Amino acid sequence: MNSDFLIIGGGVAGLSTAQRLLQQGAAVTVLERGEIGQEASWAGGGILSPLCPWNYPDEVTRLTTRGAELFSAWAKELHTATGVNTEYETSGMLVLPPFDAQAAGQWCDAHSACSVNKVRAADYNLLEQGDALFLPEVAQVRNPRLLRALHQHVRSLGGRIIEQCEVSNIVVENEQVHSVTTSSGKFNAQGYIVTAGAWSKEVLGRQALRLNIKPMRGQMLLFKFDVSPLRHIVLQDDLYLIPRRDGYLLIGSTMEDVGFDQRTTNEARNMLWQRAQKLLPSLSDMTLVQHWAGLRPASPCNIPTIGRHPKLDNLYLNSGHFRYGVTMAPASAEILLNEITGVQQKLDVTPYRAGWGI
Ligand SMILES: Cc1cc2nc3c(=O)[nH]c(=O)nc-3n(C[C@H](O)[C@H](O)[C@H](O)COP(=O)(O)OP(=O)(O)OC[C@H]3O[C@@H](n4cnc5c(N)ncnc54)[C@H](O)[C@@H]3O)c2cc1C
Repeated sequence: MNSDFLIIGGGVAGLSTAQRLLQQGAAVTVLERGEIGQEASWAGGGILSPLCPWNYPDEVTRLTTRGAELFSAWAKELHTATGVNTEYETSGMLVLPPFDAQAAGQWCDAHSACSVNKVRAADYNLLEQGDALFLPEVAQVRNPRLLRALHQHVRSLGGRIIEQCEVSNIVVENEQVHSVTTSSGKFNAQGYIVTAGAWSKEVLGRQALRLNIKPMRGQMLLFKFDVSPLRHIVLQDDLYLIPRRDGYLLIGSTMEDVGFDQRTTNEARNMLWQRAQKLLPSLSDMTLVQHWAGLRPASPCNIPTIGRHPKLDNLYLNSGHFRYGVTMAPASAEILLNEITGVQQKLDVTPYRAGWGI
């Protein structure tokens, strides 16, 4: 591809897009306000599935399913290219009651890999919970490692990464983006891609049209066991426990509509810890290792916007992935690349154009 692109925002959406563009021969520069991969993409849990897939519309599960399909090969590609192991692992997810058994049953019928079992507390180190659903194909990845691998790979493919560079204005002339104004001066390119997560609407400014992407805070807790107490991800309502191979256990998360406030709160820490103890009593003796918050790029019905701007044909967006931006990343990059290069889409992408509101 003989063109150059500026990507605004260096999270998983920006880096995965950069990787695929570079592999097509484009010249790519990523402009990142802070340091690469330190916002929502770092803060997330790395579950590669919607929490209860039957609760989401097809537009969401189509993209998460395609993302999950692509992930294993993507993780291998990154490992081979960089030596960084993202710890992609099909650890399975146990969904504890209460959940909508009828909708879950229909989902299981359509996806033969699910099963509903009586959970035996002794098998899972959990307090007795009644009939649970096991989703064996759900995988996970370790976010900081994924970001490190992507960052290294983008650099090794010749991508230029400029950190501490905040985009403050998109300059439009003759129905094209002409340049962007940043804290490090003006930049221009043939194509511009906004992947600024929860800040995408602000970055687009007047060009956001009716886009509705806003921050939604999520807090996470981290514990360290000598030996992992769980074999699978465990989910109850919107509380989840994610075991890592080396004994770390993540507990998440909250959904807080508090604007761009990224502070953690004692209230959320106590709520998450107490709820998790009701499932896994051994947590009461543990010391909290870390507590953090991240801002998800929230969009209506969790449907992201991916593709060309309706009025400016050298401006693109890949954002608004809300709760599932890591899962959706490889599929979203694929959709955007297909659009840019004119390759036929593998999915119906109409829903991912609707977010502009026109
Ligand atoms: C607590 C929590 C748990 C989650 N768990 C999961 C999960 O288990 N599975 C899953 O799939 N997803 C999960 N998510 C969601 C997922 O993390 C996000 O959807 C995804 O990371 C969004 O990626 P992004 O690249 O769009 O945004 P970000 O990672 O936020 O990246 C956007 C980047 O743009 C930069 N930027 C912003 N403004 C500017 C500017 N003006 N100029 C230059 N750069 C700018 C930011 O600094 C940032 O680095 C979770 C999120 C949170 C917060």
